[in-house]
Amino acid sequence: MAYEVTLIPGDGTGPELMDATRRALEATGVGFKWDIQHAGLDVYERGGDPLPAATLDSLRRTRVGIKGPTTTPIGAGFRSVNVALRKELDLYMCLRPCKAYAGVRTRFPELDIVIVRENTEDVYVGVEFQEGSEGASRMIELLAELGATVRPDSGLSVKPISRFGSRRIVEAAFDYARHNGRRKVTAVHKANIMKFTDGLFLELAREVASENPTIEFEEIIVDNLANQLMQWPADYDVLVLPNLYGDVISDLGAGMIGGLGFAGGANIGEHAAVFEATHGSAPKYAGLGKVNPTALMLSGVYMLRHLEELDAANRLERALAEVIRKGERVTFDLKEDRNDPTAVGTAEFADAVIEELNT
Ligand code: NAD
Repeated sequence: MAYEVTLIPGDGTGPELMDATRRALEATGVGFKWDIQHAGLDVYERGGDPLPAATLDSLRRTRVGIKGPTTTPIGAGFRSVNVALRKELDLYMCLRPCKAYAGVRTRFPELDIVIVRENTEDVYVGVEFQEGSEGASRMIELLAELGATVRPDSGLSVKPISRFGSRRIVEAAFDYARHNGRRKVTAVHKANIMKFTDGLFLELAREVASENPTIEFEEIIVDNLANQLMQWPADYDVLVLPNLYGDVISDLGAGMIGGLGFAGGANIGEHAAVFEATHGSAPKYAGLGKVNPTALMLSGVYMLRHLEELDAANRLERALAEVIRKGERVTFDLKEDRNDPTAVGTAEFADAVIEELNT
């Protein structure tokens, strides 16, 4: 049986990374029927919508997508395609495993954590009032009526964290832990300061933990986590976090495993899942065929697991790990010296992974 999957090449280095990843996924022997759809800067510049309705329709139909990075113009232009996709399809769970593979330069070779970031709430909802605007002054007046003093020259961002959103993300973290043989879930918060937002998140985390007694539960304040993760990385397993802390800690995790080139991920909802690397479109390398496809290939591994193709997922992950461990046919970012002339390109890295898959 072939799985129908929406394939979005993206822009910048996206298409070359996607080409490499698609070949590696096909080499696992799993059958795919790709529905190629577009999103990002290239389609926008051709006079189109950066997130065409056809792309969303395809994802609603196939329920599974793999996506290359897409550029978000700074200042003018269009809003982030990624944020829009998460919103349109209610992809509430952002899954970012951070595992250090042998052969990668890292001071944290034992790191093997999974970050589960809430994707739809928190300060990312975009409810903001610009300093000096009518909205800001009315909000400040209202706050004054409610007994809260805020300086009149303030900008405001609203941070909604709901009972519903907190419960479903913590449940998703426990489900992930159970299905993937993980031993512990740690809820990350700053409830000592934000009692009614992070406090609510923590209350729901405790509630869900009590319903899942076979998995260990721990809670930690986010600043302490940043410290502890550096000192005792092996103490952590699955982390569940509200949106903003999840964003920051994901990049910390990516840095600890050797950089963005190794950080795969997924955005998962009730009705669809979109697999993509944590990194962006790296536009300065676009068209050069030299960037590292590991992060997108790992996203492909997570997609295979989502499709319950566990054997293919394990084989592809092992092949990738072997190519990285050998360190011969790898891209420039994996070499000691980034100008090492023996570094191979994106396509040759994929060839090495495919050969390893077949051995
Ligand atoms: P970026 O992740 O694209 O690149 C930053 C640097 O990281 C690159 O210059 C490169 O040195 C390195 N890098 C990234 N991916 C690499 C890879 N596969 N192999 C080797 N090195 C790699 O971040 P940026 O430059 O801040 O963002 C570029 C664009 O991507 C922006 O428009 C941003 O909005 C967008 N973006 C998109 C996504 C997404 O589509 N999910 C995520 C993040 C950023």
